[in-house]
Amino acid sequence: MCAMHASSIRSTLSRSTRVTAAAAVLLLAAPAVHAQRVSAAAIAPQELARIWDAEHVSPAQPPLMDHAEVMRRLAAVVSTATDLFTMEKIGESIEGRSINHVTVGSGPTAVLLWSQMHGDEPTATAALFDFFDYLTRHRGEAAVQRLLGSLTLHVVPMLNPDGAERFQRRNAQSIDVNRDALRLQTPEGQILKALRDRLNPRVGFNLHNQNWRTSVGDPPKPASISLLSVAFDKPRSESPGRTLTKKLCAVIRDALEPFASGQIGRYGDEFEVRAFGDNLTLWGTPVVLIETGPWPSAEPDPALVRLNFIAIVSALDALATRRVDKADPKRYETLPVNESKLFYVLVQNATVINGAGVPPYTADIGIIANRRVRTVEGRRQIQMATNIDDMGDLRSSGALRTIDATGAIVVPDAGYEQGALVDLPDWKKRGEITIAVGQGVRIALLRPDTDGKYRVEMILK
Ligand SMILES: [Zn+2]
Repeated sequence: MCAMHASSIRSTLSRSTRVTAAAAVLLLAAPAVHAQRVSAAAIAPQELARIWDAEHVSPAQPPLMDHAEVMRRLAAVVSTATDLFTMEKIGESIEGRSINHVTVGSGPTAVLLWSQMHGDEPTATAALFDFFDYLTRHRGEAAVQRLLGSLTLHVVPMLNPDGAERFQRRNAQSIDVNRDALRLQTPEGQILKALRDRLNPRVGFNLHNQNWRTSVGDPPKPASISLLSVAFDKPRSESPGRTLTKKLCAVIRDALEPFASGQIGRYGDEFEVRAFGDNLTLWGTPVVLIETGPWPSAEPDPALVRLNFIAIVSALDALATRRVDKADPKRYETLPVNESKLFYVLVQNATVINGAGVPPYTADIGIIANRRVRTVEGRRQIQMATNIDDMGDLRSSGALRTIDATGAIVVPDAGYEQGALVDLPDWKKRGEITIAVGQGVRIALLRPDTDGKYRVEMILK
């Protein structure tokens, strides 16, 4: 495979530069299909990453994006390139927020992309604005012309604006829009169904975020992206549509692997009779599900938006060039199925005095976190709600952050000051705060110091 790649580069070079004897031999040896591959060369993922790094316009914190900001950004996208983009209001949410359909491109293949049908899953909405900006800025380039000449893209950013306003999964009726494909009681679901039926797109991209506990592999790593070629029936039958979405997933995997090695998983493809992806596939628009997951950083969003941008452009480029036809579905099928083995913080090998009057014992402490958005003094803010989810021997789990507490004592935080020298609490004494599964995180890590005292090394809350 590497040899193929090297020879294709050399034969490309030989066209524009002086043809050396060696290159001429290579050219002669190159079969016709090879030349075709050169002319349909992919936009390199590394190039997309470089472009994103230099030019991205997405907000640093997508959870803070509300409907008003999406509307402001959409208006700017369209007014900057009125000949490129059209926007159509296709309906309103329960609370009257507009839901919009952006069209770009004029090619024969219709593609539907929608984001944030779950209100608290904003990464792809941010990435779509980077994608629109990319199309505008690079419209003069062959790759973008090829994309817009082959495809007509129909994009619905933020399908569930009421949920986004509250940063919650469900819509204002408290219904999960993604379980409403059959009953169609949500306006958001009706809008998506009506748009699909009107356009009958060749393929759809359903853009989500997944739980931060989602892991992949052994030892478990963060599943930063999970892919799914969505099934349309219980036997999970193969069809030309499913083959296409498997190939698109293979393209996305290969594009993202340099940036998230070992952090790409796939979902089990059990048929969900009520879900939109499954039903769109059944109705004739096979769907690729892209789920964005955790990233091991205190500021995870930009890296995840970047992955989404690379995934979306790479997949669409592969469709436009028909390079997708040559993709190997096995590159998708061999992705490990994701699991739920990731903690936000894992305190390992601690000696625990849990505050409940029981003797000290050795345990790992698994902490999970959920992001919330709250409005404080008129401004939206991201907050982390942390909880102890498990205690004991957690060696088969992974974590975004691991704290080695070997040799340290973990105790309930009784208002300690970091760095202070303290006495070890008497384990026989019951306290108001205990360290237990299901509770909030209020723990201190004490390290033995001089004269029988302990140093407060860390406070977690
Ligand atoms: Zn979702």
